[in-house]
Order: sequence, then structure tokens, then C-alpha cells
Amino acid sequence: MQDSYERTIDYIRISVTDQCNLRCIYCMPEGCTHRNAKQQLTDEQILKLCRRFAQLGISKVKITGGEPLLRPKVPALIKEIRQIPGIHSVTLTTNGILLGKYLPQLVKAGLTGVNISVDSLDPVHYQQISGRDSLQPVMDSLKAALSYPELVTKLNCVPVYGKNHQDLAELALLAKDEDLHVRFIEMMPIGYGKDFNCCTEDQILKYLEGKLKIRLIPYEGRLGNGPAHYYQAQGFKGKIGFISAVSHKFCSQCNRIRLTCDGYLKTCLQYQTGCDLKPYLQQGASEETLKQVILQTVKEKPVCHHFLEDQKDEKEEKRAMCEIGG
Ligand code: SAM
Ligand code: SF4
Repeated sequence: MQDSYERTIDYIRISVTDQCNLRCIYCMPEGCTHRNAKQQLTDEQILKLCRRFAQLGISKVKITGGEPLLRPKVPALIKEIRQIPGIHSVTLTTNGILLGKYLPQLVKAGLTGVNISVDSLDPVHYQQISGRDSLQPVMDSLKAALSYPELVTKLNCVPVYGKNHQDLAELALLAKDEDLHVRFIEMMPIGYGKDFNCCTEDQILKYLEGKLKIRLIPYEGRLGNGPAHYYQAQGFKGKIGFISAVSHKFCSQCNRIRLTCDGYLKTCLQYQTGCDLKPYLQQGASEETLKQVILQTVKEKPVCHHFLEDQKDEKEEKRAMCEIGG
């Protein structure tokens, strides 16, 4: 399907829970007062919507959260989504704590890729950012994921000044010996992320090249479904990626929509613009009605974000990132 700016929308991020077993300072800090979803969509409701999305041209699905693996039976849900005609890839983004436990089931279900979020390899810094002493199970999961050649595994890190900026080279080095893409995500001013300054791509590039004494050469090929762009370094098996929504705005190529765990279809990360699909599901809306509502919502997708503008917009998103799914 296309929006009003002729962008093709073929990718959806589906949040299956707003609960989490970590307390990352920029997402769901300790004492965070986000409102828990009163009623999550059931598996059947998610599947019903996925069928309509697929009929409208969505071919790539990312399962996210909160921490998606806290939701019971996620492997079974992924298996069902994977079998929907038109859906070519189902990937997962996770903090990795429970991933080791579920990996065999997830791979069997047809999961095509997994992104594991790790902000530091220093256990103290990891705990300072995530609120929990859980680095070891995450690293065990990463190792286990890399043992499945059919699974595309990526590592995501959000650099935070004063917390992990000194740890980025060590994280990037993981891409040297493993076929692992290590990606740095610029902090976005959404929810609790507004309290932090963003380390920009250019700053990180310069830092990595200096610290590791390497040259990072832009990689022209395409990897994955999203807005990340990649660099390669001589002698590295994996690539170094950046998702730089702030310093390298990519809205003109945006191909995505988002579904919250309580059924809100969101068309832009920064704005509330979208539609609550739950009432339609509860009232037993027909296939045709659901498709029309989705199409109309996509038509109203905002042209771009305005992260760098101070001006407040009443439509600005009030949800925390753990309610949206990143
Ligand atoms: N719990 C899972 C995880 O951590 O991967 C999935 C949900 S989490 C919201 C998805 C991604 O969003 C994570 O990689 C996280 O680091 C990132 N994220 C959260 N808040 C962010 C922010 N303000 N700016 C940029 N990325 C953010
Ligand atoms: Fe949880 Fe992921 Fe948010 Fe961290 S980034 S608090 S792991 S949802």
C-alpha cells in the first residue's frame, strides 16, 4: 500500500506486550509511570490484523515490545504469522535475556532474524543503563543465536553520553570475528529518551576509527528491512551499522507502520496520528471494513518527524518507547 507521499508501506512493527524485565534508563526507567495497556490484543486478533496487513502489501513483520519474549507462546504466534500468504520475513527484537530459552522453538517457527539489544559489554555499565545485572544471559543468548546460520543476527546499541560512550569500540569489535552486524541507534527524543543527548553517527564513526585504528567504508549493499546503513572495515566479518533518525533523517524512505499491544495502528514514531483498531475487532468488523480503515490510516501518515524542532505539536506522541516498540 502507498501513503499520500507515494511511499510504499511494506513493513510493520508489532508490539506484543508493554511489559519488560529490564529498566533501560531511556525507555522504561525504574519507577516509570507509563500506563499499562488495559487490554492487549489476543493472538487471534493479532493474526486477523496480520492477514489484512498482508493482503494490503505488508510482507515484513517485526515482533517487538516491551520485551516480546515475556508474552506467553510468542513462538507459536510467530509460526502462525510466518504462514500467512505474503509475509516473507518475521523478525524479533529482544533484550536477549529469555532468548536462549526460546531460540530452538523460534527457529523452528520460522523466525528469519533477531536483533539483540546490548548497550555495553561492561557488566557495571550494562546494569547502570538497563537497571539489571543480566549481561551474562544476554551474551549467552547472543552466542546461541550465532550458532544458527539460518538466523540473521544483529546487535543493537543505543549510545548514551556518560554511560556507555566509552564502550562502543568493544561492542563494534564483536563484528570482527563473528558474522554479526553491530548497529548504533541514535537516541530519539521519544518518551524518556528526551532526557538524554544523542551521540551522533558522525561522532561515533570518528571515535571508532580513532580508537580501533580502522577505516569504516560505506557499504553500498542493502541489509535488512529498515533504515540502517552500514560500513565495513577490513578484516571484519560483520558490518557496523547506524540508525540515525536524528542526524540523517530518513522519513522520505519510510516504509513502516506500527501496531501497539492494545491495537493502536501508529503511522509515525513522533506523532499519535493513527487509529485504534481494537473497537473494530471487538465489533466483528468485516475483512473489507478493516482493510479500508487501515488504508485510510496509512493515507494520513505524516510526511516526516520534527525531532530537531523545539515547537510543540499537540499531536506529539505521549507514549513511552516501551509502549510503542521502538
Ligand atoms: N525489549 C526489546 C529490546 O530492547 O530490543 C524490544 C523493545 S525496545 C523498545 C526496541 C529498541 O528500541 C531497542 O533496541 C531499544 O534500545 C530501542 N530504544 C528504546 N528507546 C529508544 C530511544 N529513545 N531512542 C532510540 N532507541 C530506543
Ligand atoms: Fe525493555 Fe527494550 Fe525498553 Fe530496555 S529498551 S526497557 S529492554 S523494552
